Amino acid sequence: MKSSVLCSFLWLVLIVPLWAQIPESERLTVQFRVEPSSASVYHAASPNNVRHSADDSEDSNDSVLAIGAASDKLIFDRRLYPDGNLLVVFRADGYQDEVRTFAIQNVLRNKIEQVTLPPEGQPPVSLVPKAREWASIAIVGATAFLCLGLLGAAYFRWKATRVKAVDIKRWVSENLVLSTEIDPLIGRKLGPYWLVEKLGHGGMATVYRAVREEETDAPLALKVIHQHVAEGQDFLGRFRREVLIGSNLIHPGIVELKDAGVEEGRHYIAMELVVGRDLRSHLSADGMSWNQALPILSKVYEAVAHAHSKDVVHRDLKPENILLTEHGEVKLTDFGLAKSHNLTNLTATGSVLGTPSYMAPEQISGQPLNPATDQYALGVLTFEVLTGRLPFAGEDVMQILMAHLSPSPAPSLSSVKEGLPDGLDGLLSRMMEKDPKARFSSVAKALEKLRTL
Ligand code: ADP
Ligand code: MG
Repeated sequence: MKSSVLCSFLWLVLIVPLWAQIPESERLTVQFRVEPSSASVYHAASPNNVRHSADDSEDSNDSVLAIGAASDKLIFDRRLYPDGNLLVVFRADGYQDEVRTFAIQNVLRNKIEQVTLPPEGQPPVSLVPKAREWASIAIVGATAFLCLGLLGAAYFRWKATRVKAVDIKRWVSENLVLSTEIDPLIGRKLGPYWLVEKLGHGGMATVYRAVREEETDAPLALKVIHQHVAEGQDFLGRFRREVLIGSNLIHPGIVELKDAGVEEGRHYIAMELVVGRDLRSHLSADGMSWNQALPILSKVYEAVAHAHSKDVVHRDLKPENILLTEHGEVKLTDFGLAKSHNLTNLTATGSVLGTPSYMAPEQISGQPLNPATDQYALGVLTFEVLTGRLPFAGEDVMQILMAHLSPSPAPSLSSVKEGLPDGLDGLLSRMMEKDPKARFSSVAKALEKLRTL
C-alpha cells in the first residue's frame, strides 16, 4: 500500500512535468496488457533493481521509478532510451516483479506481448535458463523432434503406399499394351492378383504373370486351372493335392508355391515367377551337347530326388514342365498330377494320367505308381535332351503307348548320336527298364551314376 502511494506521488511529481516537456516527436504512447491488471509499471535502471518476493527489501523501490498503472496508456520519452529498448518493471502486491524489455520498433508496430506476473511463492523467473532447465528444454525439444520425425515418417510411408496403389494401375495398363494375346483374363483381377501377361499353358491350366495389388516389385506366376478341368471328376481332390504337395516341397530346383484360392469359380495357384523359358524351347532338332545338357540334367535329377525324399512322385516329367532361368537355374514345375506314395492306393481311380511319350509301362497300365515311374520319364527326357528325338515314337498316341509297353527296349543312344560319354547307354537302358524293380533303386542313385560319366 505504502509503495503504491509512493508510486502515485512519484508519477505526479516526476512523470507529469516530464510529459509536459516531451516534444511530440519523442513521445511514445504505450498500452501494456498485464495480468493482474492492478500492476504498476516502473522504469528500471537494470534488472538488479528487481525484487523477487514481497519479503525483499523495500529499498528496491528506491532504484525504480514509477511510470503509471499498467491498465493506463503510458507516455514514454524516447530520448531516455538511446539503445531503442524500453526496460520496465511490472509490480503488483502478492506477485513477484517482472522485468521486460520492449523494442521501441515493436511498440511502434503495436507488437506488445502480454505480461503475466509470477504469483508470490513461486521460484523467481529466471531470464537465463539454469542447467536443469536446459536439460528439460533439451528433453522437451528432443521429444518434440522425435514426435515430428515419427509423424513425418508415418506420413511419407502413407504417401508411398498411396503412390504405389496408383502406380500399380498404370503399371498394369502399360504391361497390357505389350501383350498381343487376346485372353479374357488379362487385365483382370483374381483374388488379390492382377493378371498382366500370359506365360504359357498346358493341359490343366494357363499360367499368367501377375502382380499382387499394391506390390509393384514382386511379380509372380498365377496358374489358373481351365474351367473344363475344374468341372471334371475328382478335380477338387487333385487341386488340393497339388497345393498340399507344392507347399511341402521347398527346394531351389522346384518352383515355390506361394498361395492358392478360388475366385468366381476359377481356381488358381500363385507361385514363384520363373523368368526364362521351358526346356522344350531350348531343344534343337539334334539335341544339346553333353556339356550343355549335363548341368541341366543333374539339377533336374536333384529336384526329382528331393521330391521323392518327401514321398512325392511327379508323374508328368517332360521338357514343358522344366523351366530354365536366364541365370542357368533349373526349376521343376507342375505338380498337378503328382501323388504322395501314401495316397496312391487310396485315390487311384484307374484313370491314366500323364503325357504318353514319357509314360512308364506301369503308369500306362494303371498300376500303383512309385518313384521308379519318374525315373523312367527322366530316362526318356535325358534321351530327348541329348538327341532331340524320343526313344519311343509312333504315329498316334496308341502306337506310342504300345511302344512303351512292348518288351523291346529303347534304341541305344550311341546309335542315334555320336560323341557322348561311354556308360550313358547303360545308364539310360537301366532307367528305362520295363520292370520298375530292374531300374536304379532311386533317382539319387541314377544321379550318382550320371555324375561319374
Ligand atoms: P499344366 O498343368 O497345364 O501343364 P503348367 O504348370 O505346366 O500347367 O504351366 C504351363 C506353362 O506355363 C509351362 O509350360 C510354362 O511355360 C509356364 N509356367 C508354368 N509355371 C511357371 C512359372 N512359375 N513361371 C513362369 N512360367 C511358368
Ligand atoms: Mg505342364
